[in-house]
Amino acid sequence: MAELIKPIFVNISIIVSITFIANMFFPFTYKGSINLKEKIYFGVLSSIAALLCMAYPIEVLRSTVFDLRTVPLLIVTLYAGIIPGGICALFIIMARWSIGGEYAWVGVLITVVALLTSLSYSKMFKDSHKKWKPGLLAIFLYFLFYILILNIYIDFLNMQFYVAYFVPLVITFFLMLILIDRLIRINMQLEETIYLGKLSILGEMAASIAHEIRNPLTTVRGMIQFLSTDTEDKQLKQYAPLLVDELDRSNKIISDYLALVKPNELTLTEINLKRVVEDTISLLAPLGVYHNVVIKSKLKVQHQVIADEQHLKQCLINLIKNAIEAIEDEGQIVIKEKMTTPGHIDLLIEDNGKGMTSEELKKIGLPFYTTKTKGTGLGTMITYKLIKNMKGSIFYKSLPNKGTTVTVRIPLT
Ligand code: ADP
Ligand code: MG
Repeated sequence: MAELIKPIFVNISIIVSITFIANMFFPFTYKGSINLKEKIYFGVLSSIAALLCMAYPIEVLRSTVFDLRTVPLLIVTLYAGIIPGGICALFIIMARWSIGGEYAWVGVLITVVALLTSLSYSKMFKDSHKKWKPGLLAIFLYFLFYILILNIYIDFLNMQFYVAYFVPLVITFFLMLILIDRLIRINMQLEETIYLGKLSILGEMAASIAHEIRNPLTTVRGMIQFLSTDTEDKQLKQYAPLLVDELDRSNKIISDYLALVKPNELTLTEINLKRVVEDTISLLAPLGVYHNVVIKSKLKVQHQVIADEQHLKQCLINLIKNAIEAIEDEGQIVIKEKMTTPGHIDLLIEDNGKGMTSEELKKIGLPFYTTKTKGTGLGTMITYKLIKNMKGSIFYKSLPNKGTTVTVRIPLT
C-alpha cells in the first residue's frame, strides 16, 4: 500500500499545478462563454496533465495501467465542453495505444466512457450553482461503467485495488471542483476591485464635470422661460415647456449624482421615527394618489432613533417612490416596524408591485442600474450610502409579480 502513496501524490501534484498554470494564463470565470482559443488551450493543458499522470502510474498490474488521467479529462469536459474534452481524450487514447499491451483497448474504452459521461452532464454542470451535485452524478455514472468494464474484461483485480485506485480518484476530482471554484471566486473579486477602482476615479471626474454643467443649464433654462413668455412665435411657445422639462430632468440627474459623490454633512441626532415616517408619507401621498397607490403607516410605538433627519427622509422618499413606481395599476404600500436585532429597529416598506427576479435583485444599488425610461439608477445607491453612514443597514426581499419588501435597520437611542 505504501508504495502507492508516492505515485498518487505525484498524480495529484501534477493535476493541481497544471490547473494553477492554466488559471494564470486564462483566468477561470463563470461569466460568458469560452472562446475557441481558450478551449484549445484548456484542451492542450489538460492533455499534458493527463499524459504526465500516465507517466507516473499508480498501479501496473500485468499490462494494465492505472493513474488519475481521467480527472483532467472529466474536469475539462465538465467546465469547458466537447472541444477541450475531445482534445484531451484523443491524446490519452493515442498515448494508451502506444503503450500497447493486451488491455490497451480497455483503456481506450474507459477514456471514451469518461468523455461521454462528463459530456452528458456538462450542460447541467454549467447551469447549476452547486457544482458538486452534477459532479457527483457524473462521477457516479462514470464509476458504474468503469467498474462494469473492469469486472467483465479484467478479472484479476481485487478489493484492495479498487480502494487504492477509486478513493484517490474521487478525492482528487472533488478537490479540483473546490479548487477551481475558489480560483473563480478570487478572479471575480479581483475583477470587481479593479472595476470599483476605475469607477471611483470616474466618479470624481464626473462630479467636477457635473458641477460645471449645472450652471450653464440654469442660465439656459431661465433664458428659455424668459423668451417664451414675451413671444409671438408659436413654435417657441409650444416647445418651451418641453425644453424646460428636459433641462429639469438633466438637472435632476446631476443633483442625484452630486448627492451621491458629495453628500451633505451628516448630523446624527435623536429623532422620532414615527413622526419622520408620517411626514414623508404625507409628502408623497399626492404622488401615490396620482398612481392609484395608497400609502399606509402601521407604526404604533414612538421609537427614538439615532439618525440624520434630512438623510433619513431622503432615503424614505427614494424607497417609497420606487415602491410607487413598481405598482403598475393600483396597489398599496405598507410601512411597518419590527424588532429583530437588539439596539436596532427594522422599518419595513412593503409594496405589492411588480417585484424583481433574483437577477434584478443582484443589480439593485449598482450605479446607473435602472429599468425605467426616465430613471437615473442612482436612488438606491444613494439610499445605501446614506443608511450606511447612519450606521444602519438595508435589505431587499422580492418576488416577481408579488411585490417587494425593503427592510431598513436603524440604531435606536
Ligand atoms: P430608478 O428609480 O431611477 O430606476 P433606483 O436606484 O431607485 O433607480 O432603482 C433601480 C431599479 O431597481 C429600478 O429601476 C427598479 O427596476 C428596481 N426597483 C427598485 N425598487 C423596486 C421595488 N420596490 N419594486 C420593484 N423594483 C424596484
Ligand atoms: Mg428610484
